[in-house]
Amino acid sequence: MDALLERLRAGLPAEALITDPDVTASYAHDMASFCDAGTPAVVVLPRSVEEVQHVMRTATALRVPVVPQGARTGLSGAANASDGCIVLSLVKMDRILEISPVDRIAVVEPGVVNATLSRAVGELGLYYPPDPSSWEMCTIGGNIGTASGGLCCVKYGVTAEYVLGLEVVLADGRLLNTGRRTAKGVAGYDLTRLFVGSEGSLGIVVKAVLALRPRPPQQLVLAAEFPSAAAACDAVCRIMERGHTPSLLELMDRTTVRAVNAMASMGLPESTEALLLCAFDTPDPAADLAAVGELCKASGATEVVPADDVAESELLLQARRSALPALEAVKSATMIDDVCVPRSRLGAMIEGTAAIAEKFGLTIGVCAHAGDGNTHPVVCFDHTDPDESRRARASFDEIMALGLELGGTITGEHGVGVLKKEWLARELGEVGLELQRGIKSAFDPLGLLNPGKLF
Ligand SMILES: Cc1cc2nc3c(=O)[nH]c(=O)nc-3n(C[C@H](O)[C@H](O)[C@H](O)COP(=O)(O)OP(=O)(O)OC[C@H]3O[C@@H](n4cnc5c(N)ncnc54)[C@H](O)[C@@H]3O)c2cc1C
Repeated sequence: MDALLERLRAGLPAEALITDPDVTASYAHDMASFCDAGTPAVVVLPRSVEEVQHVMRTATALRVPVVPQGARTGLSGAANASDGCIVLSLVKMDRILEISPVDRIAVVEPGVVNATLSRAVGELGLYYPPDPSSWEMCTIGGNIGTASGGLCCVKYGVTAEYVLGLEVVLADGRLLNTGRRTAKGVAGYDLTRLFVGSEGSLGIVVKAVLALRPRPPQQLVLAAEFPSAAAACDAVCRIMERGHTPSLLELMDRTTVRAVNAMASMGLPESTEALLLCAFDTPDPAADLAAVGELCKASGATEVVPADDVAESELLLQARRSALPALEAVKSATMIDDVCVPRSRLGAMIEGTAAIAEKFGLTIGVCAHAGDGNTHPVVCFDHTDPDESRRARASFDEIMALGLELGGTITGEHGVGVLKKEWLARELGEVGLELQRGIKSAFDPLGLLNPGKLF
């Protein structure tokens, strides 16, 4: 420990190091429940690429594991500390280095908060689409680490679609540049894409070149109430089948609606079994919403209410963004699934989840990026009750098994981390897993980067 601190101090200012155990303990885990976390030896908050290189050279020389962290809003334990590790928090590297309207790119450090970047590019008439519900807190580095999605992905895609190039500090301290800042480029293997979703296991992202789009018109939102989740899923299929391109298509089940009202007094309709939110940012959103409203009615919607204006639309989005925190308040603990299925199987996924909740006698609220087929079943339980905790874990696993059975994936956007480690092998298969392990050891032969995650 003394040798580690001495070497770190040689290349870092005093304020970049935290050693007080009470404070370092607060960096031990992200926002996922039930994921093991160790005790960090030290937390380092670098402000430059050179400082990150110094940390990685030190870690390699002394064989100390390193856990990169952004804002620790992750929901899979992917940013959890391991015993004796260096926590490398990138939040102080938070400069937007460049925004180019001509090249339609932004160049940023990893600690930039998603919403800060969105607002900065918005002022120039540009748009950075990936918008996790946690956008006011989470960082671009974390978004790249987990390949984040969000509410607008149904039209604009996920983080992977917007990362053009990266600067990465490798485990031994070397600096790697991947990708490009051009509109096109196919030179060599796509290492940029490899880093997106790698959960800090291949290198430390210290700079990112991100693609931007022209800012679309403000979106208008419609809320439709359904007598069952199956009817709402039927509407989702009709909307997509008819060729509509909503900028948002989200679902909240009855449990979620009630939880949001209880937490934030949003006045959402409590008698509904499922609430579908659909938005358009097209030149004539009202006309598109009217067409979608008819499709919702054809699927059995009992009420279809388009928002009057942008302010009312924003309130509905706020309600959706507060779904996870609201469900977290239902009982003392939650486990949040992230299963994504082909959207044609969304109804089967949600009905199957309800059957699992009944089988285990648990409350499982579902909110979903319905247009992506990405469900977030949130298992709510009392963590002081050992039997309920056991049933919660079993139901969480059955939900992932159901997702795989329906042709889906165990994680649409939150990542594998610690929480879904055992399930990754089932999804990838033996050959896939072996190759992925080979890639990991090519980048990190000593296994120092974020050990114990993914595999
Ligand atoms: C209320 C709430 C709502 C959410 N909604 C969504 C949502 O809609 N969509 C969604 O996808 N997620 C959502 N999330 C999950 C979470 O916000 C995202 O996974 C987010 O991308 C994590 O960013 P972070 O800065 O907090 O990263 P962290 O949690 O700190 O880290 C995430 C991963 O990235 C790695 N990492 C971080 N920085 C770097 C770096 N510079 N270099 C290399 N690796 C790095 C870490 O090691 C870790 O593996 C939500 C979370 C909460 C709490």
